[in-house]
Amino acid sequence: MFFSFTDSRLTPAMRDAIAHAGYSTPTPIQAQAIGPILDGRDVIGCAQTGTGKTAAFAIPMLELLTRPDSPLAKRGGTGPRALVLAPTRELALQIAETFHMLGGAQGIRTLVLIGGESMGPQLAGLQKRPDVIVATPGRLSDHLERRSLGLGALRIVVLDEADRMLDMGFAPQVERILRVTPLDRQTLCFSATMPAEVETLVRRHLSRPVRIEVGVSAKPVAKVTQRLYRSPTQDKTPLLLKLLGEEGGRTLVFTRTKHRADRVARAVGAAGHRVTRLHADRSMSQRREALDGFRSGRYRVLIATDIAARGIDVPEIAHVVNFDLPHTAEDYIHRIGRTARAEASGRATSFASPEEHEQLRVIERHLGHAVPRQ
Ligand code: AMP
Repeated sequence: MFFSFTDSRLTPAMRDAIAHAGYSTPTPIQAQAIGPILDGRDVIGCAQTGTGKTAAFAIPMLELLTRPDSPLAKRGGTGPRALVLAPTRELALQIAETFHMLGGAQGIRTLVLIGGESMGPQLAGLQKRPDVIVATPGRLSDHLERRSLGLGALRIVVLDEADRMLDMGFAPQVERILRVTPLDRQTLCFSATMPAEVETLVRRHLSRPVRIEVGVSAKPVAKVTQRLYRSPTQDKTPLLLKLLGEEGGRTLVFTRTKHRADRVARAVGAAGHRVTRLHADRSMSQRREALDGFRSGRYRVLIATDIAARGIDVPEIAHVVNFDLPHTAEDYIHRIGRTARAEASGRATSFASPEEHEQLRVIERHLGHAVPRQ
C-alpha cells in the first residue's frame, strides 16, 4: 500500500517533475493516497494543510490525465476532465501552482476560476480548453449559470478543505456542482476535520471510499513549539514589537478583524519592520502582492485575518503569532500549522487577554494540554 516516488506506476516524466519540485520522499498522506487514487478509487483524506495533501492528489491526477490508457485520458469530448474545489481564492491559486509545477511540462493546462477577478480573462481561459479547473464554489456556480462551461466530461473531482467549504456556507453550491458532473466520476475529499456535515457529503457523493487519516485528526504538527502570553489587549502591540525585535525569522501574525490587522501593521511598520497585510478588504492584486512579497522575503511580517490566510502556503514561516486567539480550536490548529511545514520546525506564540479566557479554555481542552505560559 505504501508508495515511493520511484514507483514504476509513475511515468519518467512525472518522476522528473517530482524531483524538480525537490520532493524526495512521499509525506505520509502521499504514501497512502497516491496508490488508491491511481487505482481509480474514491478517497477520503483526513489531513490538514501542511501535510503535503495538495501533491497527494495532484501527482496521481496528473499521472492519470497524461496516460493514454487511463480512465481519465482524453476521450474526444470537450470540457475539463478534472475539477478541484477549494474554499478560498488563495488556496485555489496555490493548488493551481502545484498543478503547473508538476504537470505544466507535460502539457496539462490548468485554469483558476475564482471570485474577485473579472470574468473576461476567465472566459478567454475557458476557450483554451483547460484540462484541470481549480475553482471556488461561488465563481464556478456563476460560470455554470452563464453556461460558460459544462462539466459533462469530468472524470475526477476533488473537494479540498471540505470542512472549511461547508463552514463558509458553500454546501448548496457544492451540491449543485456535483449534480451536474457524471455519476461515474472519481471523487476525492480532503478535510482537516470530520464533522457530521462532511461525513454526510462523503456518504452522498463518494463511492466505497478508501479512508486515510494522517496522524490524529485536528492535532497540531508535533514540531511546533507553542507558548502563551497573558496580556491585556492594550499591551499586545508593544509585546509583539518586543518579540519582533528580539527574535528573527519570517513571522505571520493573526488578528481578529481587518481593522485590527491594519492598525497592528501600521505600528509594526512604524517600528521599522518590513510588513504587509492580507484581509478580505484588500483587492486581489493587493493580496497577491502581499503574499508574493512575503514569500520572496521582501516583507518579513504578514498580518492576516483567518479567512484570508486560510491555506496560504509559504515555506519557512519561522513564527506564527496569534495576536488575538481564534474562536475555534480548529482555527488555532490551522493557524499554527502554517509554521513547521513539511520538514521544518517552528514556533507559535499566542496572546490571550482576560476577555479571551473562554476561547483559551476551549483550545486547550481540544489540544489535551495547556499551552506553556511565559
Ligand atoms: P500542502 O499540505 O499541500 O499545503 O503542502 C505543504 C508543503 O509541503 C508545500 O510547500 C509543498 O511544496 C511541500 N511538500 C509537499 N510534498 C512534499 C514532499 N514529498 N517532500 C517535501 N516537501 C513537500
